[in-house]
Amino acid sequence: MPFFELTLSMAMDGVSKVAFSEGEGWPMMLKCTRCGHVGDKVQRVSSVGEAEMSGSRGVANHVQSCKECRAEFSVNVADAGAGAGTFDETNDESSPALITVIECRGCEPEPASFDGQGFTATSIGGATMDGVLEDGEWADYDVEAECEMALMEVSTAWALCAAPGKGKGRRRA
Ligand SMILES: [Zn+2]
Repeated sequence: MPFFELTLSMAMDGVSKVAFSEGEGWPMMLKCTRCGHVGDKVQRVSSVGEAEMSGSRGVANHVQSCKECRAEFSVNVADAGAGAGTFDETNDESSPALITVIECRGCEPEPASFDGQGFTATSIGGATMDGVLEDGEWADYDVEAECEMALMEVSTAWALCAAPGKGKGRRRA
């Protein structure tokens, strides 16, 4: 089953690092690969979610039926490896941060708003602040370092990728 990676780019001001948390799940729109219908609701898929697939095919982190063709599809959050979920000064528009990797059965992810996603931001002065994205932005103030902290122009993208952990003896193709 194909794997997809979620990458994020944004602009930072007074911030050196942002670690996003999964929270209630990573946001995505899901497109049925059988009929091409894209659901109109943002789905939040979490690595701790558990739903049963029909026909005793086991469990997945997210299970859903297509509103058009009724096909059932599922999503599992894969282990994206160390450093995933973190955007820092080595990342920019041409080098977005890897946020997570998912494995899809019968569907494909499309970008959804990242609003509501929680994170811990580290200011250039070293202070850490917890925040939540709203309208693709966030702002706070590091009182000790007397610096404004801001995140803006948040954008995300999904792309097909290789299975994470390949070459370490856990081929799952
Ligand atoms: Zn469908």
